[in-house]
Amino acid sequence: MSPVTTEPVKPASPARPVTHSVVLIEGDGIGPEISAAVRLILDAAAAPIAWQPAVAGGRAFAAGVGTGVPADTVALIEQTRLVLKAPLETPVGHGGKSANVTLRKLFEMYANIRPVKELPGVTTPFSGRGIDLVIVRENVEDLYAGIEHMQTPDTAQALKLITRRGSAKIARAAFELARREGRGRVTAVHKANILKLTEGLFKRTVEAVARDYPDINADDMIVDACAHKLVVAPEQIDVAVMTNMNGDILSDLAAGLVGGLGLAASANIGDHAAMFEAVHGSAPDIAGRGLANPTAFLQAALMLLRHLGETEQAMRIEAALALTLTEGRVLTGDLARGRGVAPSSTMAFAEAVAANL
Ligand code: NAD
Repeated sequence: MSPVTTEPVKPASPARPVTHSVVLIEGDGIGPEISAAVRLILDAAAAPIAWQPAVAGGRAFAAGVGTGVPADTVALIEQTRLVLKAPLETPVGHGGKSANVTLRKLFEMYANIRPVKELPGVTTPFSGRGIDLVIVRENVEDLYAGIEHMQTPDTAQALKLITRRGSAKIARAAFELARREGRGRVTAVHKANILKLTEGLFKRTVEAVARDYPDINADDMIVDACAHKLVVAPEQIDVAVMTNMNGDILSDLAAGLVGGLGLAASANIGDHAAMFEAVHGSAPDIAGRGLANPTAFLQAALMLLRHLGETEQAMRIEAALALTLTEGRVLTGDLARGRGVAPSSTMAFAEAVAANL
C-alpha cells in the first residue's frame, strides 16, 4: 500500500526557488471576494505560486455544464494536481449534483483533513484549553456513495459502502499525518458496536494498519462517545480517523469548538491531486458586499503552502494572521461584533494581515 501523497514537495535547491503552479477556482457567492483577499496576502508574502484560474460551480452550471466542472478545468487540474478552491454553490434543480463532490470523486481525493486549532484572539467558550486536533475523514465511500432507492413508496433505502482498501488508505493517511506532524495518537472513531460489518470492517482495518506504526499510539472510540469527548475534553483528542458520515458531522462539531465554520479549512487529498478549501459555503446572503471573513480561505491557502513544503512562508503568514486577530482593530463583521469594534471590509482585513507580515 503506497502512503498518501501528503509528503511536502521540496524545492530542488534553495538557490533556485520553485514556482508552484496551482489551479485557483474563485467559486461562487463570496468566493471571488475571499479569493482576492487571499491572493493579496500571498502576493504580499511573495509566495512562490503561479495561479491558474479555472471555473467550476455556479458559472459552469449556468453555461450548461451538467457536472459543474468544465473539461478545461479538469485538464488544468490534471496538469497541476493542486487546487485552491473557493466555495461552490450547489444549485437547486440540477438533479442535486454538487461540483464539489464531482471534483473529489474525479480525482479520488479520498482523505479529508480538517485541522481544529484555537486561533489567537478568537474567544469561544472553549478558549484556553489547548485544542489542537485533526479530523481525518474518509471522503468517497460510506453513505456518500449515493446508492439510494425507494423500496416501496413509503420505504427508502441507502447503502452504506465500506471497503477494506478505502479504510486502509484513510487509516494510512491518518498515521502518516500523525508521524509527519509529531502527533502521538490516532483514534479510530466508529460505530462498530451496532454496524458490525461496515463500521466493524473499518475499525479492524485501522487496527491492522496501526501495526505498521509502532511509534504512534492507536486506540478507538465509539462515535457518540467521541462527540461527548469533543465537548467535555477536546484537548485530549489528537488525530481522529473516521468514516465519511461520522467525519462529516464531527468535523463541523469540532470546528464549532474553535470559532465556527467561518474560520475552518480542509484539505482533500488523493494519490494524484490535492484540493484545499474553506469549510464554509458560498454565503449568498452576504455575497458582493465586502462582508466576508477571508480567514478560513486563508487557512486553506496555508495548508496548501505546507503541503508544498513552503513551511516558512506558511508560518510567517500564520503569525501575521494571529497578530491581526489579537490586535483586534481590523476585523470583519462576524468577529468585530463580539469585540465591540466597527466592522472592516474583507479587503481591509486582508490589507491588515499583509501589513503585519
Ligand atoms: P454557508 O456556509 O455559505 O453560510 C452559512 C452562514 O455563514 C451564512 O449566514 C453566511 O453568511 C455565513 N458565512 C459563511 N462563510 C462566511 C465567511 N467567510 N464570512 C462571514 N460569514 C460567513 O452555508 P449555506 O448557506 O448552507 O450554503 C450556501 C451555498 O454554499 C450552498 O449552495 C451550499 O451547497 C454551498 N456550500 C459549498 C461548500 C463548498 O464549496 N465546500 C460547503 C458548504 C456549502
